This record gives sequence, structure tokens and C-alpha cells, in this order.
Amino acid sequence: MTNRRTLVAANWKMNGSIEGNRVLAEALIEGISAETPAEVAVCPSFVYLSQLSEQFKNTSIKLGAQNVSHLDEGAYTGEVAASMLVDFGCEYVIVGHSERRMHYRETDSRVAEKFSATQLNSMTPILCIGELLEERESNSTEEVIARQLDAVIDKVTINAFDNAVIAYEPVWAIGTGKTATPEQAQDVHQFIRLRLARHDGAIADGIRVLYGGSVKADNAPQLFEMADIDGGLIGGASLVAKDFLDICHAVRK
Ligand code: PEP
Repeated sequence: MTNRRTLVAANWKMNGSIEGNRVLAEALIEGISAETPAEVAVCPSFVYLSQLSEQFKNTSIKLGAQNVSHLDEGAYTGEVAASMLVDFGCEYVIVGHSERRMHYRETDSRVAEKFSATQLNSMTPILCIGELLEERESNSTEEVIARQLDAVIDKVTINAFDNAVIAYEPVWAIGTGKTATPEQAQDVHQFIRLRLARHDGAIADGIRVLYGGSVKADNAPQLFEMADIDGGLIGGASLVAKDFLDICHAVRK
């Protein structure tokens, strides 16, 4: 098996304030060093990227964005281009989060365009995929995951997954306190890897597949222990320094 370095990424969503971010970021800087086994990234709201890029300068904490426009520039009021994120030192961009798919009607093909825009600007997309509760209950989880993955592969080709991260986030587990069991998550992570391996075994083996959905300090160790789980995308628990730091240190590799 390829040695995949664990990635723990914080999705702060629409939370934060200048003062609150300062305090939280200081605690993270204190708790994370180059020796921390996991790679750590923080994805604040767009408006705080400048503040956090200053604060994380000369630390090992990476910066990411929660969304990006699929377009390069122009008359698109309210949108943020990938090149602008590069200006603020972003290395990662979350694309296709279920909240964007759900509340802002982002389609599989739009998500694929955002994935592509991110890579064209030399950043790494964190592609979120995952099924709704009714899809799990009707045994369509694999069908949904395959559809969401294939839409991106069809647009950018499998080779693009050489510089990408996938986050499996069952929608029923996000912000609900209901975590997938490590075995449930592992089954889907393995399916994701097998799906990619149909195109390219080395890329499937090398790509990091994160789990997201109510990861907390107490369930992270069991999740991160599974063979195909390479870290987490953390929402609620990333807003509390101690909880997030505990998750960052719950690492097997
Ligand atoms: C998320 O929003 O990506 C997420 C996983 O949230 P939470 O950890 O709060 O479930």
C-alpha cells in the first residue's frame, strides 16, 4: 500500500469573527508543528482568508477555501475566482460539499467544473461526495457515489486525480451527531478506491480519501484506523481548538 499521509481539514463553514478566528488559530498554531503526523488544513470563510493566511504564515498549517467559482473572471457578482484564492495562499479548495449541492443546487457537472478550475490554478480540490439518508436506505449508496465520481472523471480524466483529495461525507452524518460506523465508512472508501482503480490502479492507491460526518475526538481514532480512511473533513468539531487538535493527533500513519 502507498504511504498516504493523513490529512485533517477543518471546514469552518459560515462561522467565525476576526477575534474568534485569531484565538482559535493561535491555539492551533500552538498545538500543531511540523512533527504532527497529520497534515492539517483550515478552510475559513472567504472573507477571513487574508487574516488566516497572515496568521498561518511560517507554520505548517495549510489554508483552504470552502468554494470557488467555475469561471475565471468577469461580470459574476458575488463569485470568487480560483486565481484570487491563490493570491491568499490557498492550497486546497473544498468542491461539491453537500450543503452547496443541496442549498445552491450545484450539479455534478458544475462540481466537475469547479474541480477543474481549482487544478488549473495549481491548488488541490477536496471533492466531497456522499449519499442522502433515503439513498442509503434504498441501497443506492454505491450508485450515487459512482455517479458523483464519474462526472468528475469524465470531465478531467483519471489523471487529474493524481492531485486531488476525496472526502466521503454521508449527508445523513453531517452535523447530525450520527457518525457512520468505521465499517460503514470503510466499505464506501474501498468502493471509491476500486472505482478509481478501474481507470488507474496507482492513482487509486495513492489518493487520500477522507471521511466527514460528525467526526469527534472520541470516534476519530477508530475511523482513522480503517485501511482506506486517510483522515477527515471536520465541521463542528473544528470550531473548538482542543477537539480539533485531538482529532489531528488521532492518527495511525
Ligand atoms: C462537514 O461539513 O464537512 C462536516 C463533516 O461537518 P460535521 O463534522 O459538523 O458533521
